[in-house]
Amino acid sequence: MKRSDFVRMMQQRLTQRRQELRRYLAGEVNELRDSVQSGVGDEIDVSVDSEHAAMRSQLADFESRELKQIDAALERVEIGRYGKCDTCDSSIGTERLRAVPYVADCIECARKAERVSNRSRGSAWDRYGMPTDEESRPKANYMSEM
Ligand SMILES: [Zn+2]
Repeated sequence: MKRSDFVRMMQQRLTQRRQELRRYLAGEVNELRDSVQSGVGDEIDVSVDSEHAAMRSQLADFESRELKQIDAALERVEIGRYGKCDTCDSSIGTERLRAVPYVADCIECARKAERVSNRSRGSAWDRYGMPTDEESRPKANYMSEM
């Protein structure tokens, strides 16, 4: 398959997925509104409802993040940069693009980024890890005074 055909195919998939997500997100907003309007039950029902709503909005959060990534990928199609790594400019493997159509970096750069973030997580842990006794004691006092 020619690269340009492949990009067109992925563009179709991305556009389709974007429509699905938009429909889904629009439906979520309507359902949330409905559950707020009908939420006249007793206190327990209300708390379960709001817990449910929080879960739903977290999910919607995730979906809208994906939507942003898809938008960015479609933009890359427009400017002819789709399938090029954002970091090193080399072509991203078609298998990788098939798996995650909106991926913006090649496997090598993704691996490197992962290694870097693992390293920084490690150093953050060293710096902000388990609180020492001196650090945790005043906090505990503060809490008990409340
Ligand atoms: Zn790269």
